Parts: sequence; structure tokens; C-alpha cells
Amino acid sequence: MKWPFGRRKQGAIDILNGAEWACRSCDAAHRGMFDLACNHPDPWNGGSEYEPNSALDLDRDFLSEDFCVIGSEHFLVRCVLEIPVHSLADKFGFGCWSSLKREHFETYVDHFDGGTVPETGPWWGWLCNRLTPLTEDQPVGCWMFPQPGRQRPVLRVDDEDHPLARAQSEGISPEDLLRVYAEHGHAPLA
Ligand SMILES: [Zn+2]
Repeated sequence: MKWPFGRRKQGAIDILNGAEWACRSCDAAHRGMFDLACNHPDPWNGGSEYEPNSALDLDRDFLSEDFCVIGSEHFLVRCVLEIPVHSLADKFGFGCWSSLKREHFETYVDHFDGGTVPETGPWWGWLCNRLTPLTEDQPVGCWMFPQPGRQRPVLRVDDEDHPLARAQSEGISPEDLLRVYAEHGHAPLA
């Protein structure tokens, strides 16, 4: 065994801990860990352009950065689902959409501009975006916790045996998070 041994191979924890990394499939210079965000719920069939929140109309298909209405019967809210990552101080955030019953959706909208927290939460809804490989095509039930000051509501998976619920309670490894990134089009250059 002789010097020089060269540099230590960069691991997942190094990549997520702040160094800039080149992506195999997009032009962004990623820096450490970043959140993934879904423009719209997976069942949305319209365009990706947002209307202003003020144009919200429950009687037609509608998409803004915070609200979505599909077929005048499905009401969805932009949320965040957080997952701890082992050895990292910050949590990974999945910017995603959850459905709500119409009455809860209306309560959420009523409190939105004032940034106050409704007294009736948390509310139950369906997570309407996949986070592969932690979720499959089956819908995932979640509790939605409204937050003060116009922060996005926080989702907590209801079924504690679901892999996504275990990820939320036990955390995932840095390698697991890189696998999630890769599934969503962001993989470090080998
Ligand atoms: Zn990328």
C-alpha cells in the first residue's frame, strides 16, 4: 500500500451537505439538499400556468399557486410534506397537493389572506402527487395541518405503516434521498 491514495470518494452525505453538484438531466446548479415542488396535482389535466388566487372560482377548473379545483368537485391545496434525512439538520420538503372536503377548502380559503389558523384543523385529505419510490399509484391519506402566516399547510401521512409515513417518522438515508431525486429527474453526474 503506497501513497498517494487520492481523494476520498464523494458520498451522498457530501452531496447533500452543501457542495454544488452538477445534474445529469437539468441545467440547474444544485447546491446541497433542495425541495421538490409539484406545479399542480397529478390528476390536473389543464395547463401549468397559474391564475391569481383572487380569481378563484369553485364552479370551473382552476389552478393558482395555492388552490386547485377539478371538475367543480375536487378541491385541492398546495402543501408541504416534510421528511427528515439522517445526519442532516434540515428536513427535505416535498411541495405537493392534497385534496380537501369542500367545506374545509372553503374554510382554508377564508383564512388564507389573513394568515390565521382555522380552529377546525387538522383536516383529512388525499395526497395527490406521487413521490416515487416512496409512494406508488395508490392514493395516500394524509392529515393536513394549517400553519400561521400564510405558510403552506403541513401534511402527515395517516396510515403509520405506509412507507411514506415511516419515512416521516424515522427519516430516510442520504442515499434514499438521492434515489428520490433521481426518480424526479435530478441525478448527480457519476
Ligand atoms: Zn437537476
